[in-house]
Amino acid sequence: MPLTLSSPVSAMRAVGEARAAALASLGIVNVRDLLRHYPRGYQFRGDVRCAAEAARLVRSGTDAPVSLCLTVSSEPSLRTIRRGMSILRFRAFDESGVCEITYFNQNYLKNTFHTGGEFRFYGRVSAEGKTLKMTSPVWEPCVPGRALPAIVPVYPLAAGLKQKFLAGLIRDALDAVAGQLEETLPTDVLRERSLCALPYAIRNIHAPEDADALGRARRRLLFEELFEFGLALSTAAAARAVPAPAMENTDVAPLLGALPYELTGAQKRSIAEIAADLASGRRMNRILTGDVGSGKTVVAAAAAWIAVHNGYQAAIMAPTEILAAQHYESLLPLLGAHGIGVLLLTGSAAAAQKRKVHEAIAGGIGADVVIGTHALLSESVSFSRLGLVIEDEQHRFGVMQRAALAEKSGDAHLLVMSATPIPRTLSLLAYGGLSISRLDEMPPGRQAVDTYVVGEAYRERLNAFILRQTEAGHQVYVVCPAVEEEKKDASSDDPEELTDPMFSDAQEDRPPLKAAVEHAAALAAAFPSLRVGFVHGKMKPAEKERVMREFTEGTVQILVSTTVIEVGVNVPNATLMIVENAERFGLAQLHQLRGRVGRGEAKSYCVLVSDAKGEAARQRLEVIRRLRDGYAIAEEDLRLRGPGDFLGAEGAVRQHGALPTVFSAAAEDADLLTAAFGTARALLEADPELRAPEHAVLREAVAEARRRTANTCN
Ligand code: ADP
Ligand code: MG
Repeated sequence: MPLTLSSPVSAMRAVGEARAAALASLGIVNVRDLLRHYPRGYQFRGDVRCAAEAARLVRSGTDAPVSLCLTVSSEPSLRTIRRGMSILRFRAFDESGVCEITYFNQNYLKNTFHTGGEFRFYGRVSAEGKTLKMTSPVWEPCVPGRALPAIVPVYPLAAGLKQKFLAGLIRDALDAVAGQLEETLPTDVLRERSLCALPYAIRNIHAPEDADALGRARRRLLFEELFEFGLALSTAAAARAVPAPAMENTDVAPLLGALPYELTGAQKRSIAEIAADLASGRRMNRILTGDVGSGKTVVAAAAAWIAVHNGYQAAIMAPTEILAAQHYESLLPLLGAHGIGVLLLTGSAAAAQKRKVHEAIAGGIGADVVIGTHALLSESVSFSRLGLVIEDEQHRFGVMQRAALAEKSGDAHLLVMSATPIPRTLSLLAYGGLSISRLDEMPPGRQAVDTYVVGEAYRERLNAFILRQTEAGHQVYVVCPAVEEEKKDASSDDPEELTDPMFSDAQEDRPPLKAAVEHAAALAAAFPSLRVGFVHGKMKPAEKERVMREFTEGTVQILVSTTVIEVGVNVPNATLMIVENAERFGLAQLHQLRGRVGRGEAKSYCVLVSDAKGEAARQRLEVIRRLRDGYAIAEEDLRLRGPGDFLGAEGAVRQHGALPTVFSAAAEDADLLTAAFGTARALLEADPELRAPEHAVLREAVAEARRRTANTCN
């Protein structure tokens, strides 16, 4: 029977039960899946060097893989050095020099390499004295009249699959069925966005004619993936209307009237959006985003107010006990003054105290608003009439956890608060189908924090500055990226697995890390009259809390810390934020760290210490120095890093399985993303359910994308 796109892979030559199972573990069940299994990188084997040139490269210290076209000049010698370990060795040459080639445990290759045979070898080269050497290089026979491919794909593998086998299988599939692929994108979209057709894209993502063709293929497939992803998220959001308590009494005037300030326009708008959701009878699924200091707390208070005045309880959850306590301290005066019962439930409270709180929550007496960590939604806490869950995720949450949260809150309305500004382009991707309220306007009178980028040479002046600030009665944060240097990624030594960093940035320069432990000790020694506190991620919570409390109370003047979340506290007396190895932090993190100062009356400063020389690092730090607005910084960040890195790294957003597979760090991907989501929106306006016959293939693809991202859309 001829092979079709929907034939199972087991219908292909050389795919037995074991390999079919291995392929299935990669999500490859039929031939279509095989064609959609994109390479994770490419080897540029077409750039063939001569032996002499390779020797020069080695001596200059590069260890990038190279291609050599060599003729075998000696019959291979096969030696068994011990049981289970054999060595095959031979020499090969070109007009400029000789290379010694070694393979381990591949005895059968003795029948492949014979004197006079010509091969292209690809791998890392080393030199011992005058002898050039390659160990286990990838080899391909040179056949007269047939060009070897210049660009060779490298695929994600699973146990039981070899690179060469999978590549061959995909080539077979291409030859057999690529012509049967049906276009998924509407013709006018292809035309408007100048995208290549699907069969061309699929062929060139696997077997690129040249770098340009690969670029075109990649652009088209990335667009398609983003487009379908955008459609999947939008249609999933629309389909998800869960009944929930209708809270029709939405009068918050008594709460707002008692505030010592006027709300910003953004705050008023957000409260109105939330009130409308709460009254709708359908479950609210909303995220409130706003920079640090934009005034999210009072918006949360208004939401809780509405729940309480409709006879429901509200639960407010924070990622740490410190932050939960802080919410308690700011909400108690706002709500308690109006006779609303506000309770704090912490894990560290005494058992008797906890029991009392549990009873109050279950009885619904004096427990209108309950604040705590995520333990609040654990089984041991039962609410008598929970109507609203507010989740302050700070920087910790991802779409997956939100789904779990929605699960646990039953039919209660859900409001997520996030201090991570996300560019508009990415909000759909980042927040799944949540509705969004944005606090993009700061309360008036917020002072600017002066920001400096300095190098190690500035250390002495920096210490003098610390002294001046503390002598004036102020406090100082010092943040280091890690307690110790982290381990380097183990890189693969299998040459079939080596990839050229085609679409990713070159490795950034990395100055030595300032070890937080030693730095804290050095500061303590440098300032004998001051108390230096130290908190790090691996510390026991109780001890961490103690140091944090001492800093909050002012008995500790300098706080050294390794992670961002520990400084998620409000200490208005702190006026100086120093970030060591600033090049190691993401822009969102740096911005968040800077937001820790400038909270009181006194002039505040942020000093970013970095000796990174690389252009990329310099540019990023310059963005923080120049910009204050979190959304503007996020846009720049996206532009500099591209959406793959922006979303994937350092927790701006943690997205699992939902990130498109051909997503990369290329900056121009951001524009593609905007285009894809924009096109998706326009299409849905014209054909909300993709019912038009010309959208049939697309509808199928979107349904599939929805299944793939189901976990992130709930
Ligand atoms: P965040 O968004 O970081 O949670 P907060 O809710 O903690 O911000 O607000 C930061 C500070 O700004 C608080 O001291 C709060 O009382 C104050 N604030 C909030 N809204 C306004 C406003 N409209 N005008 C003036 N001050 C405000
Ligand atoms: Mg807050």
